[in-house]
Amino acid sequence: MYNLIGDKMIIGSHVSFGEKQLLSSAQLAISYGANTFMFYTGAPQNTIRKEIDDQLTLEAKKYMIENNIDIKNVICHAPYIINLANKEKAESWNFSISFLKNEINRITKMGINYIVVHPGNSLNIDRMTALENISEAINNIIDENTIPMILLETMAGKGTECGINIYELKYILEHINEKSKVGICLDTCHLNDSGIDIANFDSYLEEFDEEIGLDKIKCIHINDSKNPIGSHKDRHANLGYGTIGFTNLINVLYHPLLKKVPKILETPWVGKYPPYKLEIEMIKEKRFNPNLEKDLEFLYEDKQTF
Ligand code: FE
Ligand code: FE
Ligand code: ZN
Repeated sequence: MYNLIGDKMIIGSHVSFGEKQLLSSAQLAISYGANTFMFYTGAPQNTIRKEIDDQLTLEAKKYMIENNIDIKNVICHAPYIINLANKEKAESWNFSISFLKNEINRITKMGINYIVVHPGNSLNIDRMTALENISEAINNIIDENTIPMILLETMAGKGTECGINIYELKYILEHINEKSKVGICLDTCHLNDSGIDIANFDSYLEEFDEEIGLDKIKCIHINDSKNPIGSHKDRHANLGYGTIGFTNLINVLYHPLLKKVPKILETPWVGKYPPYKLEIEMIKEKRFNPNLEKDLEFLYEDKQTF
């Protein structure tokens, strides 16, 4: 099945962390034809978290081995509401730090290597201070014994989001002590909305390589965008259904310099259905599907499990 794209592309989507925790996530990923996935350890909008069940983790790992998912490529995403950038309210900043610390402990226990984090929102303080706060928070969270890598996500620039260009990300990275334990997660929708033309992705990569280094890119979120370049909106669209367009996304997905980087779809559901199985098919076949909605209805109609 993977011969279509060579057996090299590491592709999946975000999936829920269900009743059976990592096992549920892995099963969903397999149902989409994926060979990796990204999960939240609970709802992305809140910080309510259940204990990790070691037995379920064990079953998940066995299931992943049987189904050719390499756990090294599996990604966790921290909830949106933690904010490392602003410490005006000491309790909130400290809460974000301790939550992320605990989250890293939970995923370390599961054997997950990466956690994607939104750098944060500066709110009412100046950018530089906000960026320094992010680094300081991370310096409080990780030390030389930390195993998972924190991946700072490139943001769209909605509101007072930090990490909206190469220079902000570089500034954060420069102030981090354990530099080998922090990387970057690109997001094509966010890049587009922050002002990067994905049609000129090579020139972005060139600049990224000069300033930060391509080896820092450990994950790429593949999303089309509902809004034009530079709109600072952050609304994801299905592949080929947005302003970036299918061909430009295919070029990112198949980029020879990013071959080993896990690619994760965070595209919206179409009606009642998750689009990932058919979007992964589009990617493998390098062919846009203009009938996504109809085909999903046909695929999932009357089926209870997906
Ligand atoms: Fe994200
Ligand atoms: Fe993302
Ligand atoms: Zn987004």
